[in-house]
Amino acid sequence: MGTEYAAPRGTRDILPGETEKWRFVEEQVHRTCADFGYAEVRTPLFEHSELFGRLGEATDLVQKEMYSFDDRGGRGLTLRPEGTAPVARAYLQHHMDAWPQPVKLYYISPMFRYERPQAGRYRQHHQFGAEALGTLDPAIDAEVIMLAVEFYRRVGLSDLSLELNSIGCPACRPGYREELSRHFAPHLDRMCGDCQVRFERNVLRMLDCKQPECREVSAGAPRSTDHLCPECRRHLDELILYLEAAGLNWRLNPRLVRGIDYYTKTVFEVSAAVLGADRALGGGGRYDGLIAELGGPDTPAVGFGLGLDRLLIVLEEGGLLLPVGQGVEAFLACAGEGAHAAAFKLLMELRRAGVAADMDFTQRSLKAQMKAADHMRARYVVIVGQDELARGKVILREMSGGGQSELEVHELVPRLVGLARKSLRDGSEGK
Ligand code: AMP
Repeated sequence: MGTEYAAPRGTRDILPGETEKWRFVEEQVHRTCADFGYAEVRTPLFEHSELFGRLGEATDLVQKEMYSFDDRGGRGLTLRPEGTAPVARAYLQHHMDAWPQPVKLYYISPMFRYERPQAGRYRQHHQFGAEALGTLDPAIDAEVIMLAVEFYRRVGLSDLSLELNSIGCPACRPGYREELSRHFAPHLDRMCGDCQVRFERNVLRMLDCKQPECREVSAGAPRSTDHLCPECRRHLDELILYLEAAGLNWRLNPRLVRGIDYYTKTVFEVSAAVLGADRALGGGGRYDGLIAELGGPDTPAVGFGLGLDRLLIVLEEGGLLLPVGQGVEAFLACAGEGAHAAAFKLLMELRRAGVAADMDFTQRSLKAQMKAADHMRARYVVIVGQDELARGKVILREMSGGGQSELEVHELVPRLVGLARKSLRDGSEGK
């Protein structure tokens, strides 16, 4: 097949066998958010490009990674590279400041970034994000962090590292920036090209550089936590009190900054022990200035975005994913004249009764049908045979070595409904 018909570079198909795992993870997102009082929001996959331009002129995301295009009406649009700006836009557009505060929202959505594809890095990836808008209380920062941690616990990942920092606010950050510039200026000539640009545009991002030379220089850089104004200091101290009350293990990393400009005060990042340093699972922070920057009232807010593709890789590598995919309850195997139509009628009755069932659609031999049933992990096979049908009967066979019995055609559906209920009960007792 020509590559022109392969999925575009950096994207992939999620196939049966995989989709079940995704659904398991998504289910945990919905349940955890329900327990934490977060409601789902769905915003469009594309927005006016200006919205994302607000994420920071000097960020890689805006400079190099956006999928932007003009539509046929000449409007500049961009496929969403992240979820916070659209949610902030929706908050404003729907006057959510008039709702009881904080407004607590979450989403699961694909994100699009023109990045160099590699393991765990795609051009379309998927995030679970949550945002709590409308309060400056540090308790909500703690709640948002605990929501992420609880979600990871529920999917089976407890071996997490949580790094925390405060990057200050418009009152204290300019002073810290100056300190950083003073620190980096004498070393600029041995730092990478990106850092030379960052020095001019956003010196904080220099702390995030992964180049060994640059890391060496930033190792001795001033710490943001030593330059916080009293308000930011208090916010961080209180947040820590809440996290300790919740029994969370965390680590202060005064060099932690995030890739987008809108963050203020709290920033955090979660990684799994099995991932390398540059492969964070997710992160977030406070963005008290974003909504005002979009033209709205001053609205403090905090949130996160967690990468689901990487989470699935980690779960897979750690052997933490339970085998999923139930298989069907019953497979109807047909033999002889008139059997297919009779089986089809029974199949529809079973499905209407909520019993997962399937049958042969290829006119195979009975032997091949038994194989297919096995492949589908059917618990029971119903043999719908011409001879039995003539006597108003079908054969019910248990696949896992159990016996078989003949029963009246009209008994089949109630019998399988009962058996399906029983296996559901036994299954849930076994857990
Ligand atoms: P960010 O919005 O950059 O903070 O990303 C949040 C999380 O999304 C990251 O920690 C990753 O787990 C995930 N992520 C970001 N970009 C990609 C990508 N290109 N491919 C896969 N996952 C990504």
